[in-house]
Amino acid sequence: MPSAGSNAPQAHSARALIFLGPPGSGKGTQAKELVKVLHVPHLSTGDMFRDNIARATPLGLRARPIMERGELVPDDITLGMVEERIAQPDCANGFVFDGFPRTSAQAERLAELLRRRGFGLPLVLHLVVPREELVRRLSGRLTCPKCGDIYNRFDHPPKVEGKCDRDGAGLVQRADDQEDVVRGRLLAFEQQTSPLVEYYRRQGVLHEIDGRQDRRALTQQLLELIGRK
Ligand code: AMP
Repeated sequence: MPSAGSNAPQAHSARALIFLGPPGSGKGTQAKELVKVLHVPHLSTGDMFRDNIARATPLGLRARPIMERGELVPDDITLGMVEERIAQPDCANGFVFDGFPRTSAQAERLAELLRRRGFGLPLVLHLVVPREELVRRLSGRLTCPKCGDIYNRFDHPPKVEGKCDRDGAGLVQRADDQEDVVRGRLLAFEQQTSPLVEYYRRQGVLHEIDGRQDRRALTQQLLELIGRK
């Protein structure tokens, strides 16, 4: 197996999975379920940015005001971060992207990176959810700052109000889950990310899945689709 950072192509069946779907479609929740079965890293660019913000890194300082407005972080910053991440040894057997790629430039650069690293075409899972349902889900979303588990005030409340079921930490609402910011994020998705649906459909790797179903049923459907059930 080539060392970390090597550009040598790898002859393996490792696969990149991509969750494509608007904010609130359940990508994060489902990506976390799939990696438990696949034993590959869950690469959420949103989480990576939030981690950089929490650590006040130079990248975090650049990303913070952009994220707070609900806009997309520029491609050069995002791509540099992703490129570095997928060169790590734990990514050699594949990974699940959640929230990346989000622009055509990101998708094209990713195709090149995957080719260089010896991966085949990615498998793309598009979770489809109507707009008003997304606004409701996002504005009700609560996250555990300790373990990252995701709840929803309406559809998936914690057992004890405001506390994480797993570790009891106080749940928080992300600043960008406030309704006016949510609408901006959905607009960014419609304008910049939805063209990727066509891009991947043309490559024959797109799977459209009804994201309105119960989260467990959705996980089962996804596992069947990727041949793990
Ligand atoms: P998420 O947690 O995926 O909803 O992402 C939260 C925010 O992080 C987005 O609204 C963007 O500001 C930023 N972000 C995450 N992923 C990307 C990406 N692939 N390209 C640009 N910005 C991103």
